[in-house]
This record gives sequence, structure tokens and C-alpha cells, in this order.
Amino acid sequence: MRWIRPPRARLGAIPVALALAGAALAPGTARADEPRAAPIELLAGEIASAIAGRPVAVRCEDDAGWQADAVARGFDGAEVWGYVALAVDPDARVFLVEPDAAALSPRACRYLQAYAGATLKPTTCAVPVRAPAARRGRRAKAIPRSPCFVDGWPTARMPDGYWADYHRYAIAIGTLAHEAVHLGQARAGLPMPSEAELESEATCHGIQLMPQVVAGLGGTVDDGRGVARYFLDLVYPGMPPEYRAVPCVRGGSLDLTPDDGVWP
Ligand SMILES: [Zn+2]
Repeated sequence: MRWIRPPRARLGAIPVALALAGAALAPGTARADEPRAAPIELLAGEIASAIAGRPVAVRCEDDAGWQADAVARGFDGAEVWGYVALAVDPDARVFLVEPDAAALSPRACRYLQAYAGATLKPTTCAVPVRAPAARRGRRAKAIPRSPCFVDGWPTARMPDGYWADYHRYAIAIGTLAHEAVHLGQARAGLPMPSEAELESEATCHGIQLMPQVVAGLGGTVDDGRGVARYFLDLVYPGMPPEYRAVPCVRGGSLDLTPDDGVWP
């Protein structure tokens, strides 16, 4: 995996999510005048609910709302892609309530919306089929679309701009998976693990659940495996240390299916 040039989006500092702990936050209450959920929020909510194991919502923030969240919660709105606010008793270190929603940045939602709406998924390519030796001389046929990244390698030579976008699609998909894992982590009354444990689990389980997210957005599980592997190879190494405190490795403590040979 050397000839994919890292796109401009910084690999070095991309917190995929931010778990806020310490402050007890009242669970959100729906108001009658709240705007109705956008289609991508509904779809992302279904995907997140399946991962979290209970009904949860996904909220797509607009630019002003995201900026306000960033100021109120003290994160860098330009770098963070999504977050779940966890209500924790700071003394007893136990979860107070199950969070009912994840918030996604406008950028995360734009990429998820574009992905869900695309008939030809943007993480796939038209990959030329190599003619078998006996049929050399015939023109290679192009098959319609297949995963553009398989087992850690690109399957076709694509312009840099393609991979810059692929990178952001991978982060958006990984963010939804990551936040959905966070939503499932918090159980009222249960002790809260360390932030590093929460982030490492959400990151590594999230990566393994990316094929499920891709399938939920209308892509194929095969393509989802490629996107997950891309994330593991090219996004994960640049994430902050607390997201990698417990290593995300095949057969490790965070491997969801340690005996099946499938990784990630
Ligand atoms: Zn997180």
C-alpha cells in the first residue's frame, strides 16, 4: 500500500469521535417544533440501532449547530467527525443513563448522504478484468463496479482526488460505526471504563462493523471489508493514542470474531 498518496485531510490528527465524560447531561427531550429527521438521519439511526442493540438516533448537525457544540463541549469542530455525550457520575464513575443519540458533523453527514444516495458506490471502481493467457490480444473487459480497495491494495489506478474522497468516505463510515458502538457501551448503573478503553473498543469494534454500515447504506459487504481494511491501514495509525491504547489486531482482545479468520 504505497502508491496511494495521503490526501490533504490530515492523517495525523483525526479524532473520529469524542466521548464526553464527567458532566452529567440531561437526556435530550424532543420538542414539538423540532425539525423532522432528514432521510440520512433516519437511515443512520437504523444502522446505529442495529449496532447498539437498542433504538438510538443519529443527529446531523448543521454548520452553526456543530460550531456551537464544539464551543460548548470544548472540541475542535474542524477535526472531530462525531460524538456521543455520555452522562457519567464523576464520583462513582458509573453511567447515569443510556445515551439516546449520536451527533455527527455536517461533513460526516454529507459523505454518508452522498454514499447512501449513490447508485454506483464511490468506494467502487470499474476494474478491468485481465484476459487469461490463452486469450491475450483480446481487449480486457471492464466489469461494471467492484471494490476499489481489496486486502490492503487498490484494485485500479485512480486519480489522487479519488483517494482523497475515498479517505473521507472511509472516515464518515467509520465514524458512524464508532459512535454506534459508543451508544451501546453505556448502560445506566454500570461502571465506566477508562476513556482509553472506551475509545479503543469503539474504534476497533467500529472498524470491524464497517461492512455492516456499508451494507446498511446500500453497498456490498465485500466493499465494506475493503473500506474497513483501508481505515485500519490508513486512518487508524494516525489516530490519537487513546484510540489505539488497546491494540486493534487480529485475534486480540478487541477482535469480535477471534476464531473465524476474518480480519478486520
Ligand atoms: Zn469515541
